[in-house]
Amino acid sequence: EAVLHWYKRDLRTYDNRALSMASAKAGSKGVPLICIFVVSPQDYQAHFTSAPRVDFELRTLEVMKRDLAEKGIPLYVTTIEDRKEVTGHILQKCEEWGAKHIYCNIEYEVDELRRETKMVKRCLDKGISFTAVHDDVVVPPETLTTGAGKQYSVYSPWFRAWIKHVHEHPHLLDASEPPAPNPPAARLRFQSIFDAPLPPAPENKSLIDEERTRFAHLWPPGEQEAHHRLERFLHEKVGAYKDTRNFPAEQSTGMLSVHLSAGTLAARTAVRSARDGNSTKKLDAGNPGIAGWISELAWRDFYKHVLAHWPYVCMFKPFKYEYTNIAWSYDAELFAAWCDGRTGFPIVDAAMRQLNHMGYMHNRCRMIVASFLAKDLLIDWRMGEKYFMEHLIDGDFASNNGGWGFAASTGVDPQPYFRIFNPLLQSEKFDAQGLYIRKWVPELAGVEGKAVHDPYGRGAGRVAEGAGYPRMVVEHKVSRERALARYKEGLGRA
Ligand code: FAD
Repeated sequence: EAVLHWYKRDLRTYDNRALSMASAKAGSKGVPLICIFVVSPQDYQAHFTSAPRVDFELRTLEVMKRDLAEKGIPLYVTTIEDRKEVTGHILQKCEEWGAKHIYCNIEYEVDELRRETKMVKRCLDKGISFTAVHDDVVVPPETLTTGAGKQYSVYSPWFRAWIKHVHEHPHLLDASEPPAPNPPAARLRFQSIFDAPLPPAPENKSLIDEERTRFAHLWPPGEQEAHHRLERFLHEKVGAYKDTRNFPAEQSTGMLSVHLSAGTLAARTAVRSARDGNSTKKLDAGNPGIAGWISELAWRDFYKHVLAHWPYVCMFKPFKYEYTNIAWSYDAELFAAWCDGRTGFPIVDAAMRQLNHMGYMHNRCRMIVASFLAKDLLIDWRMGEKYFMEHLIDGDFASNNGGWGFAASTGVDPQPYFRIFNPLLQSEKFDAQGLYIRKWVPELAGVEGKAVHDPYGRGAGRVAEGAGYPRMVVEHKVSRERALARYKEGLGRA
């Protein structure tokens, strides 16, 4: 006999609800715990998962395999080409290992929920117990309702309810027990799993050598790394977070999104650690930096709640139905200029180049480039959403979809459509010295002063041109008016 933990986007051993329950079950029966992770190239393809993200997962699995092996727990990792076969393969392995109990943490996306439903049915047929638990969020979706018993679709009141709920139910932040070591006999029994190498990345998600080295250097894998980053951030930076978080050159944010989205760090652990460092031991009072950081983590919960309650957002539909009829552009040349960071808007280009190089972009810049694509270029925001997923190492459907919906005004609790970011003003406000721009757009490294925000408009055209920096692909004043008219027209047709 055995108990199985099915790993998905919860790639850690510490504070992992389902893993902890699986281990307790195995302990109570005196049988070994086995862990499984399925590499599913078709899922990666369907969800536009970026190659750096797949690489990060595989590097993390390598670390986990070692850590779990120290406790005599085998981690079986295999590639299943046909995504429809994933559940069947797991059940086949259960049969082979005599596993009568499967545990996993719930993922809220539609395909994943359907897969879990299928698993429930198939397990019932085979007399296997299947337990899927909430772990990815602090407060499970559907928990919080408005006074009228409805689901929240506005962040601020939802956040107030979230804070109140967690204060009233502090156990939500308790850490789960780490898995106990397996009985010694497990080592011999599962020797072939301990010895097996990890499968390679699927062909369409492989990186070339230079990229592998770059991403390994930028984003070391594994949960210990996540904890070091968390501790460093809480020790050195969180105090100033509220005042500095909007300035991309400051490097003042946690840079933990890759760990939160791969599950090398639980959101619960992050919130608990921040709270424990707060003199008030509260989530929303005391150190403003800590409270501010927790409120950002709550956005992550909010967007998962939206995804779980309104699953049609997973189906390329805007949250707000009335925005369905906007006549988007599909201009391939303009889109390519945006993707490559060649729009002639320095802040936009810097941000896109940061994304292409690091698989990461600062939050303020994510808002700027998303607004620019949807409103200045009027390009279908879903093309930008997809490009982000294909390049972000921290790609997370709910947060990405939520962020794009916010910027394009089509999402839940969005920026109103008539509030259009002026990229030049954003640039001057949030990158006043132009440090971020000069870092990522080397053509403008020699441009001095404020001209860096708009070299052709502010007397540095010769330098910019000499360095091969493009002119602006649109004029903001004109594109703003065009966007207002196009949105109004679309809404009129709804
Ligand atoms: P910190 O400022 O340290 O924040 C701590 C954590 O809170 C983050 O790691 C993240 O988990 C969460 N968080 C912060 N801001 C948000 C937010 N606006 N929405 C949801 N969660 C938030 N985040 C992703 O993790 N994956 C994505 O695919 C993603 N796509 C985005 C797309 C757009 C268009 C926008 C505007 C935002 C997107 N975000 C996404 C949210 C946010 O930009 C990143 O979480 C943040 O920049 C990560 O950096 P950090 O870890 O240093 O954040």
